[in-house]
Amino acid sequence: MTSEKINLMSMSPQELSEFFVSMGEKSFRAQQIMRWIYQFGVTDFDEMSNLNKVLRAKLKETCVVTAPEIVTEQKASDGTTKWALDIGDGQLVETVLIPEADRNTLCISTQVGCPVKCAFCRTGAQGFNRNLTVNEIIGQVFRAATRVGFSKNEEYKPISNVVMMGMGEPLLNLQNVMKVCDLLLSDYGFALSKRRVTVSTSGVAPVLNKIAGKLDVALALSLHAPDDELRNKLVPINENYNIKEVLDSVRNYIDKSNANCGRVTIEYVLLDHVNDSTEQAEALVKLLRTIPCKVNLIPFNEHENSEFRKPSNSRIDRFYKVLFDAGFTVIKRTTRGDEISAACGQLAGQVKDKLNKQKEIESVQV
Ligand code: SAH
Ligand code: SF4
Repeated sequence: MTSEKINLMSMSPQELSEFFVSMGEKSFRAQQIMRWIYQFGVTDFDEMSNLNKVLRAKLKETCVVTAPEIVTEQKASDGTTKWALDIGDGQLVETVLIPEADRNTLCISTQVGCPVKCAFCRTGAQGFNRNLTVNEIIGQVFRAATRVGFSKNEEYKPISNVVMMGMGEPLLNLQNVMKVCDLLLSDYGFALSKRRVTVSTSGVAPVLNKIAGKLDVALALSLHAPDDELRNKLVPINENYNIKEVLDSVRNYIDKSNANCGRVTIEYVLLDHVNDSTEQAEALVKLLRTIPCKVNLIPFNEHENSEFRKPSNSRIDRFYKVLFDAGFTVIKRTTRGDEISAACGQLAGQVKDKLNKQKEIESVQV
């Protein structure tokens, strides 16, 4: 039965080489296998022609190479494509491809739901069930690549950028996220440049401090408010790590990073009459004056069950202008994939919230 076999797509590059050494093989076998999987999309050991017959037979007996299956595919008119992957137990995770002229960006999920529960986010409203495994995260990139093409398949435009901006808070699933980054960056894995892999965080300051100098990928901070009072309401983790602590940890991270070219991306969701006034833009300018950054303004993507609204274009433009005039690099993000609920914060998948499930169980017992 395959379920008893070892899945080689669950291992980091280091684990894979240790695995081959433990089999009495040379560690470079790990590199050969990784190239087959992540650069050619080959999962059948019989097709891995540079492995000898004996090793292939041994691998077939004890191992598999597999990822969660795609169960639905939705394509928007602008080419944005959303896939839902079945991760068992009735749960689905979503991953989104955003094609642009010069790149193919894949937005991946790191958790089933999200425990941070930001006030405006559809994923947060779904509750939280569990962290995704290495296989379930790298599997999203693998499955997307089976659709758009692997790097060694020149007919296609392979995935060039990966952003961890799907469902979940990546820094609350640190061990797996770090292994996934190793697979994305490895010359034998997806071989992406560290500048093209982005971890987006709501601001888990102690984790950022811990990984500074150990993980080197691009960083985005979801700030969304210029003061603690408002941020506590919008991004509840701010009550644990306030703006000052978070910005200090961000500074520390980018100081030790090459991937960021010295700058963090600040994400700011614009919510009508909540965080989009001229005064708030001015406060943001003050707050970020000493942080080397570029600012991404994301007009709120509306979704059902949310009271928040997207500001008018004139309010968005006014906010933009304050930052621009103060000398910031500021980008107004255009909404992609809205019609298939694939835009930022619209990913919901299918989450069985453990806490709610627990409550359901309790109420049945009573
Ligand atoms: N948990 C991480 C990464 C996933 S969320 C984080 O919060 O950074 C990715 C981005 O989408 C975040 O900046 C988040 O604040 C933003 N986002 C969430 N819901 C949104 C919505 N409805 N409209 C626009 N952006 C949203
Ligand atoms: Fe979680 Fe990010 Fe959504 Fe906040 S915005 S609830 S951290 S996924």
